[in-house]
Amino acid sequence: MPGLDEQLHHVYEEVLRRNPGEQEFHQAVHEVLHSLGPVVKKHPEYVDAAVIKRLCEPERQIIFRVPWVDDAGQVQMNRGFRVQFNSALGPFKGGLRFHPSVYLGIIKFLGFEQIFKNSLTGMPIGGGKGGSDFDPKGRSDAEVMRFCQSFMTELSRHVGEYTDVPAGDIGVGGREIGFLFGQYKRMTNRYESGVLTGKGLTWGGSQVRREATGYGTVFFVDEILKAKGESFEGKRVVVSGSGNVATYAIEKVHQLGGVVVACSDSSGYVVDEDGIDLELLKEIKEVRRGRVNEYAEAKGNRTHFVDGGSVWDVPCQVALPSATQNELGGAAAIQLVKNGCQVVGEGANMPVTPEGVKVFGDAGVRLAPGKAANAGGVATSALEMQQNASRDSWGFEFTEDKLAGIMRNIHDRCAETAEEYGSPGNYVVGANIAGFIRVADAMLALGVI
Ligand code: GLU
Repeated sequence: MPGLDEQLHHVYEEVLRRNPGEQEFHQAVHEVLHSLGPVVKKHPEYVDAAVIKRLCEPERQIIFRVPWVDDAGQVQMNRGFRVQFNSALGPFKGGLRFHPSVYLGIIKFLGFEQIFKNSLTGMPIGGGKGGSDFDPKGRSDAEVMRFCQSFMTELSRHVGEYTDVPAGDIGVGGREIGFLFGQYKRMTNRYESGVLTGKGLTWGGSQVRREATGYGTVFFVDEILKAKGESFEGKRVVVSGSGNVATYAIEKVHQLGGVVVACSDSSGYVVDEDGIDLELLKEIKEVRRGRVNEYAEAKGNRTHFVDGGSVWDVPCQVALPSATQNELGGAAAIQLVKNGCQVVGEGANMPVTPEGVKVFGDAGVRLAPGKAANAGGVATSALEMQQNASRDSWGFEFTEDKLAGIMRNIHDRCAETAEEYGSPGNYVVGANIAGFIRVADAMLALGVI
């Protein structure tokens, strides 16, 4: 593979051989290895102790059958996953994704990214990820509950506050975490709050966890803008997606004086020149579980819906891809550059393709990679774990201040590391190296395990 140091090339070839057909996982590994050339030159011990090779192999992978009965009385069957990737820094930590596209390659890419993301937070959490090919879309609350109960019946053997702490991701929000936690509590006869994060505020959850991924992404981009002597004030912003990450990214951009003029879902995108009305969007997406075209219908004035188009055609100065992996490719990146986009902050995991990353790099657009920019979600999960461990519960402002401080630290660490390793301004390289070094040093200290 061009561009990889010889020893890293070797590791990558081995990853391809051992994990056939897992394209997203290959992409995530390649992206990290691509940044590590200068690190292995400076620290040959990471290669000698096979740290990088071991990092690419999950500590444990669990795949299980999830049978459940739908409202019509028919037996349905899905596949469940939990990939416990690396626990050098703390218990495995990472979300669960329920989406029909889920297969082992997606869970492994997410779990791999999670190791470095969690490391970057500076908190004591290892990396893992799980999920299922279950599609919650169009399912009743009762069906979702039965699915979650079946899923947790198996998963409960493998999780625990000191072992592995799942949370939400695409398709898993407060409703699903509630059903999962209820089943775990019933099965174990323990009110073990620290086994899951993203819980409701009356049953062990943390303030700001719901908002944290979107808010954190905007805090991170705000730091980039500040480093350029700018701010969100008056900036035109486009956000893709309209789920949890997108919703709270929009909220924070508006609080900081920017205007989010477009957001999207898999049906298309909506443009509102007056700025997306968040109350209306929340009502449609969270309450009605509807689609963004309903937003345009309800709002009317200076608003339109584009069926199936690319939201990246909408001119903006800041782009926040917050939908899913590989949603922003080379052509969309060229369009954004042409329209004068200056900063891209990944609210989703790996939303920009390698071609897109290259286009932004060549054009001097600052790109905040997901493993740094969207780390606020998991960081606030770690704050939730802290509160659960001390049976405490903190106020909103106190928790939000902590989140803002964590995002500032991650930004600074990425910027300083990029500089130290000869790529000033390259947040992708900075995030990969800084995330890697913390976990690699822990692995060296713990011996060959
Ligand atoms: N799924 C989120 C992520 O991609 C959050 C994980 C967590 O809170 O454990 O980081």
